[in-house]
Amino acid sequence: MVQKGPRPLVLCGPSGSGKSTLLKRLLKEFPDKFGFSVSHTTRSPRPGEKNGVHYHFTTKEDMSAAIARGEFIETATFSGNMYGTSKQAVDDVRCTGRICVLDIEMEGVKQVKKTDLNPLLVFVMPPSIEELERRLRARNTEQEDALAKRLETARKEIVFGQEPGNFHIIILNDNLDKAYSELREFISQNMEEKERDDKDKNGGDN
Ligand code: ADP
Ligand code: 5GP
Repeated sequence: MVQKGPRPLVLCGPSGSGKSTLLKRLLKEFPDKFGFSVSHTTRSPRPGEKNGVHYHFTTKEDMSAAIARGEFIETATFSGNMYGTSKQAVDDVRCTGRICVLDIEMEGVKQVKKTDLNPLLVFVMPPSIEELERRLRARNTEQEDALAKRLETARKEIVFGQEPGNFHIIILNDNLDKAYSELREFISQNMEEKERDDKDKNGGDN
């Protein structure tokens, strides 16, 4: 069972749009306030990625079995690999009292929206497909075929991201400092609103 706790934060956006970079900065600045939901994936680790920190790296067989046991909140196939958020991943953050942050693609967002997690939904938008391709190539983490798949998916994600009602905010990541300030501002406004609502519910003196 997923525990109750503060409203989670979801970051979605095409591969290479800057989600991990923004999250890393947020987690570094506010280590006591936010905690990362460590997803499962069947893709291979990239250099520097640690099991249990960046992802729980697993196999298709193990992940399919865990899904069948009902252990996941949402799952998706992306660029030929399985990804998913386990109930445990969200509970692990929530039991620390931190705000749980999920970095997930759009099929996962659609599933999460049907749960009672009620997250704040942020879409990270690249300046253009051309710039996205430049950044992905410069990151140098994907083979040519995987890169092509990611760019093809990016076009669909950009359409989804811009559809009214799908996200609470679209952050254009043309400049990292500017994008990060917008994210910070959005979070602080929405968290402050929640604190005010909670105070109102408690009669204003708690
Ligand atoms: P994602 O997690 O969305 O796949 P990353 O955070 O890994 O994307 O970013 C993709 C690449 O683009 C990384 O190499 C990162 O350093 C770089 N990057 C992120 N934001 C910017 C930016 N505003 N300008 C230039 N490069 C950026
Ligand atoms: P990457 O392979 O670059 O780490 O991630 C590829 C895509 O998978 C990204 O869009 C990322 O947001 C998404 N992703 C990572 N973890 C999950 C997850 O648990 N669920 C879903 N639906 N997508 C995920």
